Amino acid sequence: MILDAPTLMAVTVFVALIVGMLFLLSWGQARRTQALAVWGLAHLIGAGGSALLCGRGVIPDWLSIGLANTLLLLAYGMIWSGARSFEGRRTAPTALMAAPALWIAACLVPAFYESVTARVILASSAASVLCLLCAHEFWRGRPEPLVSRGPAILLLASQAALYAVRIPASLVFPVPAVNPVASPWVAVLCFAALLYMVAIAFLFMALAKERLEWEQRLSALTDPLTGVVNRRGLEERASVLLASGRATLLLFDLDHFKRINDTFGHGIGDAVLVGFCTLARTLLPPQAVFGRLGGEEFACVLPGDSAAEPIAETIRHALAGMRAECIPNLRVTVSVGAARGEAGLDALLERADRALYRAKRLGRDRVVWDGPAPRPVREISAAS
Ligand code: GH3
Ligand code: MG
Ligand code: MG
Repeated sequence: MILDAPTLMAVTVFVALIVGMLFLLSWGQARRTQALAVWGLAHLIGAGGSALLCGRGVIPDWLSIGLANTLLLLAYGMIWSGARSFEGRRTAPTALMAAPALWIAACLVPAFYESVTARVILASSAASVLCLLCAHEFWRGRPEPLVSRGPAILLLASQAALYAVRIPASLVFPVPAVNPVASPWVAVLCFAALLYMVAIAFLFMALAKERLEWEQRLSALTDPLTGVVNRRGLEERASVLLASGRATLLLFDLDHFKRINDTFGHGIGDAVLVGFCTLARTLLPPQAVFGRLGGEEFACVLPGDSAAEPIAETIRHALAGMRAECIPNLRVTVSVGAARGEAGLDALLERADRALYRAKRLGRDRVVWDGPAPRPVREISAAS
């Protein structure tokens, strides 16, 4: 196979143009994902830089060398800045312009400008660093489980490595100063750059699509008022705890909540619901799964061996003791029905609901267990 560098460079220009426009088209359909617009512009600028590179020997050198590489480094910088935007971070204009500015400054030094090797080393180093920074951004965002995140990190890191290898390679096999496009290495690099561009663009678009799907999935499992999981989310998250054996279910129902709404208004009622969730999430252990079943009813699933009795009492007690400065006569209490066992969520809910009914009948603001309450952990350790 004969790789022809001028042909490959021309193909690169058109592919970059098409990819840039496709990014902008995707951004038009998902305006919230600004990274798509940044990546689109980056590819269009990259296409401009590549077009100027193609003109080597035909147009003045300051265009085909100076400006071409300035635009290409700006394009790499924008790809990095797009990755930052995708991860919710801003990029300072000075950071974005650092690589192109360094290149322009170096080109003003005649000894640098006349040395092909020096130019290859600087351009490759800057591109390698920017690819690595881009991979690093996606790596930092890995708590968000997007399928294309891993492949994007690997591809960007390998592209950074390819540019890094180009530095010693340019010292061992210098690019000829006269007609460098004829060098087989230039053709191989063009070919690799083209493949990387297509693969990375595909992964970036996949990332944007997966982000939207992930957000839709999260919102389907989240209660919009309180931000805790809804019943479906609770079922899904608790399934792991329930499958691993014994679990405890605490069913919380705010007392006389209708009265709170009627006395203070629906808005205050909503604020009470949000406040209760904040309190519960603060006091519950990290492994607890807490969610809103509906209305003023909440449930919490805890691993079987956790000290559920003191946890439930702490939440009940803390809520009863809470005072809102602006509404001194607002008192909120909660009744808790609790059940422990190896049954599934529905069976535990049914038992906890029975206990909750008893708690209400006994006068509210209390924790009642279905069956004997488990002994507090310190009592068990003292007895054994
Ligand atoms: P009990 O002590 O027996 O539980 O009495 P309760 O008043 O808390 O129970 P009831 O089921 O009679 O009333 C629940 C109220 O919760 C009725 C409903 O209007 C209110 N509610 C349900 N969802 C919301 C909500 O999202 N926001 C507000 N502010 N109120 C809600
Ligand atoms: Mg209720
Ligand atoms: Mg209630």
